Amino acid sequence: MIANETIEKAAYDVMTKAAIDIPEDYLNGIKGMVDMEKGDLSAFVLKAMIDNWEAATEDRRPMCADTGLPRYFIKVGNEAKFDGGFVGFERALRSATARATHDVPLRPNRVHPLWRHDHNNNVGLNAPEVEWSFEPDADWIDITTVHKGGLFGTDYRMLFPGDGIDGIKRFFLDTLIAFGKRGLACQPAIVGVGLGGSKDICMVLGKQAACLRPVGDKNPDPKVAELEDELKELGNNIGMGAMGFVGSSMCVDVHVECGFTHTGGMPMSVHTFCLSSRRATARIHADGSIEYRTDPKWFTPYMRRETIGWDSQEAASSKSA
Ligand code: SF4
Repeated sequence: MIANETIEKAAYDVMTKAAIDIPEDYLNGIKGMVDMEKGDLSAFVLKAMIDNWEAATEDRRPMCADTGLPRYFIKVGNEAKFDGGFVGFERALRSATARATHDVPLRPNRVHPLWRHDHNNNVGLNAPEVEWSFEPDADWIDITTVHKGGLFGTDYRMLFPGDGIDGIKRFFLDTLIAFGKRGLACQPAIVGVGLGGSKDICMVLGKQAACLRPVGDKNPDPKVAELEDELKELGNNIGMGAMGFVGSSMCVDVHVECGFTHTGGMPMSVHTFCLSSRRATARIHADGSIEYRTDPKWFTPYMRRETIGWDSQEAASSKSA
């Protein structure tokens, strides 16, 4: 049985790790862009970013003053046993958020949208957000936090099926150019694209694609993976680079996630996970031990299933695919 205190500890630890330690995949992605960048200012910014991350890690301080809106993504194994139930689980997540805000410290960004009051701890009405998912044949719990910075850097459009791939590319470019020109998202970013679903799920898919897949990860559908490559190429050829300066380092990667949608439409969302791409995951095993990593492994074959049910045969065939 996993103790409630263990859940609280893991949730607190990932808040701290995410705020300070840049994920290796993102760091390596940026290092790979430095030599390719021909724009003087963009190249300068990329090098300065790498220096800043090293300083943040050494000083154990958050890499950006804006610690965004801390939130959790939880994956619970179908066989996992934990005390306190889901209500206790959520209380542990809220308590960990408040504690980490005070101790790290994280900027207490959360305020009431109308009255602007805050509790000075990033906890309040509908905050922090908690998204739940499940995994068959598993007895562990994964707790992932993401400090998604930037108030902006997200957009949505309802396309028609006839808009096709060209329409997707057009909206993608319109969005990146608008964000870049107005300084709405610090690039290079991991860009997530949600395609399909209902309007709300389209937004969720795009956000998860940006925040929960590491740089270099490919969609298992080869045609979608091809689209990811093409969008990345396009995004890095609009003439804008790091922090919107002239250059070519806009997208460190592009991830696309799809959901079945209404036959009459093709909703699309675009999200940018900025240069402070902060994420960390803890896996709590059934014996209470905790392992930390930076790849959330969120989109499992089970998450992307198309079938009604799920049995071990389906699991085996998805593994061999
Ligand atoms: S967009 Fe990201 S890097 Fe830029 S200020 Fe916001 S949190 Fe910091």
